[in-house]
Amino acid sequence: MTGGALSPPPGDDDLGGYRSLFENAVEGIYRTTPDGRYLDANPALARIYGYDGPADLIAGLTDIAHDLYVNPTDRDRFKESLDRDSVVRNFEARVYGKNRDIIWISENARAVRNAEGRVVCYEGTVQDISERKRAEESLRLAAAVFETVGEAIVVTDANRVVLAVNAAFERITDWTAAEVTGRPCDLFAIEMIGFADMEEVWRLAASGGLWSGESWARRKDADPFPTALAVTAIAGEDSAADRFVLLLRDITSHRRDEQRIRFHASHDSLTRLANRRTVMESLADAIIRAERNGERLAVLYLDVNRFKDINDSFGHAVGDELLRQVARRLKACVRSSDIIGRLGGDEFVVVLPSVADHGTAEVCINKVLYAFAEPFAINELELFSSTSIGVALYPDDADNAESLLSRADAAMYHAKRNGHAFSCFDTDMDRQVADRVNLENDLRHALADEQFRLAYQPKVDVALGRIVGAEALIRWRHPERGDVSPALFIPVAERAGLIGAIDDWVLGQACAQMARWRAAGLEPPSISVNLSPAQFHDGRLKDKVKTVLAKAGLPPTMLELEITETMMASDVDRAIEILEQLTAMGVKVSLDDFGTGYSSLAYLKLFPVTTLKIDRTFVDDLPDDAKDGAIIASIMALAVNLGFAVIAEGVETPGQAKFLAERGCTTMQGYLFSRPVDAEAFTQLLEHGIPALEQAY
Ligand code: C2E
Ligand code: MG
Ligand code: MG
Repeated sequence: MTGGALSPPPGDDDLGGYRSLFENAVEGIYRTTPDGRYLDANPALARIYGYDGPADLIAGLTDIAHDLYVNPTDRDRFKESLDRDSVVRNFEARVYGKNRDIIWISENARAVRNAEGRVVCYEGTVQDISERKRAEESLRLAAAVFETVGEAIVVTDANRVVLAVNAAFERITDWTAAEVTGRPCDLFAIEMIGFADMEEVWRLAASGGLWSGESWARRKDADPFPTALAVTAIAGEDSAADRFVLLLRDITSHRRDEQRIRFHASHDSLTRLANRRTVMESLADAIIRAERNGERLAVLYLDVNRFKDINDSFGHAVGDELLRQVARRLKACVRSSDIIGRLGGDEFVVVLPSVADHGTAEVCINKVLYAFAEPFAINELELFSSTSIGVALYPDDADNAESLLSRADAAMYHAKRNGHAFSCFDTDMDRQVADRVNLENDLRHALADEQFRLAYQPKVDVALGRIVGAEALIRWRHPERGDVSPALFIPVAERAGLIGAIDDWVLGQACAQMARWRAAGLEPPSISVNLSPAQFHDGRLKDKVKTVLAKAGLPPTMLELEITETMMASDVDRAIEILEQLTAMGVKVSLDDFGTGYSSLAYLKLFPVTTLKIDRTFVDDLPDDAKDGAIIASIMALAVNLGFAVIAEGVETPGQAKFLAERGCTTMQGYLFSRPVDAEAFTQLLEHGIPALEQAY
């Protein structure tokens, strides 16, 4: 029999002493059978396992292998050791308490053998080591965290001498642990720069236990980087700080994100130019500087001409790309000290911080205009675009950013309206801006208040000597302004989304008037109506036309729709489909303002249009302008080839009429024959003829 603390009590006398030890020990003490039943257990063991007392334990725990060990193979290992070596020391295992909570125990045990050497029982002691295990676990966890977190961790002593750094620190700063351990931390990696007072950080950390904020640190190559820094002071025995733990996070990319966010908030995402808010801020700053230096400053307000047409006709992707290219060209025209931004839509602004006068601004303006001279290559398209520029000067025209910009805008609008490349602000223009805003408001009432009328202009055939059609042209008699030109209000109506209702009204009126002429037995010409891009692309166009014709009782062949080239250029297939629907009904389609648009001649033969309407600008300088003459001749040749009819608009002189007729263009429209007139006057023309038509051309 091997000796041990717990050999069976040798005699009755000693029993009392042993028993007391057994009963009062802080360690659990037991004896079990080899197959796992308790023979004896002391109160401490019952307490460790959560039983009321030894009796409760012995009665409740009858199968140690299965009821006690969390992992039953632990019992097997335990037994194997005992059977082999007769003793087990510090055997650690997890066991279940009575209420199934898990307890870590450490056991020392021995096998008790009889004279023949057969194991009769096991006896041993049990210690609850749960507390120690938990501490070890959290230490292991802390060590794992220390080594695996993304943040750099530096532990220093009270004198800020580095005691330890983690792997992230090495990775982020390029220093190795060996290089920095034992050295003062503010000498190298944690050399704070750009931060007011590092001493203050240490002091605050030491007194408050924690300081956190943003700072700068240096890498081994002295390259500084921004960090989120937390300094924790750990108090020692005497409650003074005896350790500092520094947690550093490299926030370089975070800073970059912030910059990106700030950039997006202040810039236009399409063109990457400054946005309206930023322009206004920079302009306000520039005004302050100009005032201080006694300088002038120029604001150029730019608008891309016919941008809306391009957008409607070619689609937004093309429109967007055009704006990007415009932005790029503008940037190339200005100096880096100039401010350039996009206000939204097709409107840009350039601020020239110090100019002597309008002349200095014009140097830049000319550069910009020149930049627009080249066509814009977008996809397969070559788009010509131009810009209208308005100029306002500080302090001459306004003394604050807001009104300076609005005056440049007014000047731009003036330029656009008068067909000028640019205009400088003058005080008259303020009134016109107010006009434009009022115009839009007034347009909203014009339909309901019956302020629109139609004028009709004859289309004549000089060879036949008679009227072959009438173009309906809208007229707006404003109660105070008098007549407002459609060239002025149609674009405003388009922008304000009012054009659809207006176009519908025109179509209905024109067809009704046509029906009246027929009913009066007048030789019925065909009636032409202008379509706006919005109406052309409106999916309901075909049905609308059908309904209107049916209502007026007109054959479709009597209606002609005037569209422009740009309307068809965006989605060619879709445009052809729309045109085919119309021509299949018998409605005629003519291409208005032909020669000023964008569509490639190669496409032309795909479009089922009836007539090309040569734009007025080609007729204006006839017969003297050789180039226009050549253009007319080629349009005629093209038309004959492709089977289009041709009409020339804006014919004002007999000379022009003669020139056109000689080249085979005998259908014409223009003041020479008649201005657009009201229905009554047009009826007179139908009844009595047109004097200018009597001549031979
Ligand atoms: P447009 O369709 O090219 O119409 C021809 C314009 O030229 C008309 O101007 C007409 O009065 C003018 N004109 C005719 N003959 C001569 C001439 O010999 N010399 C000159 N200098 N001009 C002449 P208006 O009526 O001011 O219309 C301008 C534009 O407004 C039209 O151009 C058309 O695009 C648009 N428009 C007119 N009425 C309507 C309409 O009811 N609906 C839509 N959507 N647009 C319209
Ligand atoms: Mg027209
Ligand atoms: Mg025209």
